[in-house]
Amino acid sequence: MNLETIAIHAGNKVDEATKAVVQPLILSSTFERSNGEYPGGYIYSRADNPNRKSLERVLALLEGGEDACAFATGNAAGMSVFQALAPGSHIICPDDMYHGLRNQLKILFKGILTFDFIDFTDLSLIESTINDSTKLIWAETPSNPLLKLADIAAIAEICKKYQLIFAVDNTFATPICQQPLTLGAHLVMHSTTKYLNGHSDVTGGVIITKNKDEFWEKIRTVQGFGGATPSPFDCYLITRGIKTLPYRMRGHVENAVKLAVYLESHPAVEAVFYPGLASHPQHNLAKKQMLSYSGMLSFTLKGGEKAAFDLINGLKIFTQATSLGGVESLIEHRYAVEGPDTKTPKNLLRVSVGLEHIDDLIADLAQNLDHLNS
Ligand SMILES: *Cc1c(COP(=O)(O)O)cnc(C)c1O
Repeated sequence: MNLETIAIHAGNKVDEATKAVVQPLILSSTFERSNGEYPGGYIYSRADNPNRKSLERVLALLEGGEDACAFATGNAAGMSVFQALAPGSHIICPDDMYHGLRNQLKILFKGILTFDFIDFTDLSLIESTINDSTKLIWAETPSNPLLKLADIAAIAEICKKYQLIFAVDNTFATPICQQPLTLGAHLVMHSTTKYLNGHSDVTGGVIITKNKDEFWEKIRTVQGFGGATPSPFDCYLITRGIKTLPYRMRGHVENAVKLAVYLESHPAVEAVFYPGLASHPQHNLAKKQMLSYSGMLSFTLKGGEKAAFDLINGLKIFTQATSLGGVESLIEHRYAVEGPDTKTPKNLLRVSVGLEHIDDLIADLAQNLDHLNS
């Protein structure tokens, strides 16, 4: 089956009792026993529930994995992988890793795990950072907010050589634009808060596995005993959002390409970071490993931090807010969010390109950018 069909059907089941075409929301926390058995297949909602099972099924199939564990947030999903590692394990992560997960490692796993944050565009540096305790390589591509790419197939080869687990945060790309498991990764992580739900009205996360191996069993145990699980209603909403994911992504990409080209041509703009642009330093890698370029871009302004704030304060259609992947366009000064240890330039703005008409988006930017330039 193709992704459009999976997105609509794999997370849905016509209800046997009522014949409702859309799978009902089951809020019950507990399920009836009979003679010590559970005839419905469910025991207690933290362990499993029908809406979560459907969400996990569609997510696993979209990424070409065998199974998925859904969590209450992307951070909880990432944490399940770190918790599943034995104490003393070493992790190699990108130096521009999503700041929430970077801080999680630095603060919550200090003294429990060891880690190195390095430049993932340098493959030989990745290999030379491996030590006897290294267990996991964690990649994020495209990265936040400079849209740098990590070569998934090449890192998968390194992981194979040293028998390491390879996880990829695929939040920016979605399974529509990039399929890490096909390129050799073992685990894929998403903040389903973003494109997968797509409507900026729920938080969620997921880990998807290529194989149901021993390490996967540990992640499943963290999910059940740790209990950072999504509510049935969260699962219902994300499953509903996923039905339109393939078509939403086409719109996001179409708008992002046009916006990137527009920004690149504007005299007030210093640089545009978007993997779909020929000027992106890793455009060839993008063409090789991505099916499409997704809807995230960032750009820097010649007028510095002041110009960045002048621009965003004048916008009418773009909303100034963090997060991404919703139908509405968001714009954000990332430096202010990420804190002092960030490498993000002060004159950088990150855009989650939404599904409004592109002419309206460009007109909104033009009104403010042209004014900056004069
Ligand atoms: C948002 C995000 C996360 C964290 O997800 P939450 O749902 O906010 O906990 C992780 N990685 C990336 C790339 C993200 O954008």
